This record gives sequence, structure tokens and C-alpha cells, in this order.
Amino acid sequence: MVALPWLRWYKRERRELPWRKTKDPYPIWISEIMLQQTRVAAAIPYYERFLERFPNVEALAAAAEEEVLAQWSGLGYYSRARNLLRAARLIVQSGGFPRDYDSIRTLPGVGDYTAAAIASIAFGLPRAALDGNVIRVLARLLDERGDIGSAKTRKRLAQAAERLLDRKRPGEFNQALMELGATICLPREPQCPRCPFAAMCQARRSGVERQLPVKRRAVQWVRVAKTLLVIRKGDRILLRQRDAASSQMAGFWELPEAELLPRAVLGERLATVAHTITNHRYRLSIVSATLRRVPRGFSWIEKEELSRIPLSTASRKALASPHFSPATCCGAR
Ligand code: SF4
Repeated sequence: MVALPWLRWYKRERRELPWRKTKDPYPIWISEIMLQQTRVAAAIPYYERFLERFPNVEALAAAAEEEVLAQWSGLGYYSRARNLLRAARLIVQSGGFPRDYDSIRTLPGVGDYTAAAIASIAFGLPRAALDGNVIRVLARLLDERGDIGSAKTRKRLAQAAERLLDRKRPGEFNQALMELGATICLPREPQCPRCPFAAMCQARRSGVERQLPVKRRAVQWVRVAKTLLVIRKGDRILLRQRDAASSQMAGFWELPEAELLPRAVLGERLATVAHTITNHRYRLSIVSATLRRVPRGFSWIEKEELSRIPLSTASRKALASPHFSPATCCGAR
């Protein structure tokens, strides 16, 4: 049988990623959840550590939430970790990983894309998976000029993806499109001469590939400046734990904000850290400080403890800045 150009290309060019070595739905699920808001290169070490600590769904289901969050610390969007744990417990209660699209889709934290990716890659089910990369590829292949932020355009692209899907190899087809979007059909500089779909790409034929996809609603960025304090006592550092009832990042530890400690005496600026959460762009000044009396709600945490507690991503970034020794914490993770 003659291999299709996209399949030949995918087999030859695909990156050797750890989750591509298996058909087991558990690690595929973990990787898909991690990749929802995290780049591949950043996700790999987390993925490997996570699977080392929780090698199967039973191990994950039996874990305490605080430990799962600690393993996730630094990846951000922590509802993903909480949903993983809830889903793992449901999977164990029901006797095993669900094997059809609709049941996979009911798991906490699993949307249309993730359910289709798991169903097609792990179980070979004919479901097209549309992530941001695939949407860009399809919009160009089909010369789709509608706003990809609109439900109508999304629906058209989803229907087209179902039509194009290779039903004999849905997992490879989905991964080939994702890989193409990540490595060839790049947002600003599509590498069309190297593309296995070049002969059928309508945007390329019309010379509009760089103008697609159309996205009308630009992100409205909110810029926020904050000062985080590094207050030390020997080998310990002062942190605050978010309230368990907090609407965001409940139970997480973080460096105190200067405004929460008006009696702190500020010293030198240690670093400046940029951090983005959804549409908020934070500029964090990390400043050393001293404090005579520690108010309620703050705790001294040993350096060695830092890699074992759920620490906010912003604080982890701050403590991983070059000013701090690797032993300080989380830079070594
Ligand atoms: S030919 Fe170019 S624009 Fe079309 S899918 Fe391939 S890389 Fe993207």
C-alpha cells in the first residue's frame, strides 16, 4: 500500500515525545491535560516526574490533593491538577479508563478537543481533534476567512475536520495536523515548501496563507505591577498560604505581597519577573525585606520544603531567578 504524503511526512518528521511511545490512555490523558496551556518543551519534565510519582490511575486516585498540586507547581492553571485527581478517582470507582468518546468527555477537565485526542490516539476512534494549531492549519488548507473566534466558523472547521479525517488512522492523522501546526504551518512564517499538504492548500494557492486564520477579537491585556517580598530567617523563607476557600489557587503557598506587610522594611531589588495568567500580564518586583513581627497567616518554610509544597507559579519563578542558589528551591525542579 502506498503511504499518504501526510503519513510519510509524520512518520519521518515527528518529534519523539515521551507520550508518543504509548497507546495507554492514562499517560496520553496526562499529557493532553498538561499541554492544554503549556508548551511541549516545558511540559516534558513535568510529565516525566508526574508519571514517575503517579505511574497509573490508581496511584493518582490514591494521592492527596496537596501532593498532586505540589507535582503540578510551576505549570499554572491548577484547576487542571484538581480535575485530574477528581477524574482519576471517578475512573477507579467505575472500574477503569472509559473507552468511548462520550464517556471520556464526561471526565472533569476534559473538553471536546481532549476527549477526541484521547479517543483517537489511545483507542483508534474516528474523532477529529481541533486545538489551536489544527484550527490554523485547517483555516489555511480550506482558505477559511471567517473569524475563528466565532462559533459559526468553528463549526464549519469542525465539520471539515470530520470530513478530512483518515478513519483508518485517526490518531496519527490528528497528531500529524497538530505536529504540522507546531512545526511547519507556523502562525507568522508557514514553511509551505516543506508541507505535505501543500498541493491541496487553498490559502497557499490564493497567496493568503499569512493572513489566515482571521481572529477579530484581540486579547485585551491587563497590566499589573506588584512587589513580592523575600524575607528570610536562616534557611527559612516567609510564605503565605492561600485560604482553602479562596476562589483562586486555594491552598497554594506564595511569597507575600508588599501591601500585605506594611511594617516590612524593604531592602534591595533582587529580580524582576514577568508572569502571565489568562489576559493579565504581571510585572513582579522581587525585593528582599526584613520584618520584626510576623502577623497571623504567614509561616516560615524550610528551603528543602519548597519542592514538596504547592507553590504558586509566580513565586516559583521568582525563587528560580538567577539571584537565588539552586538549593533555594524550585529552579532545580
Ligand atoms: S501549505 Fe503552507 S499554509 Fe498551507 S497548510 Fe501547509 S504550511 Fe500551512
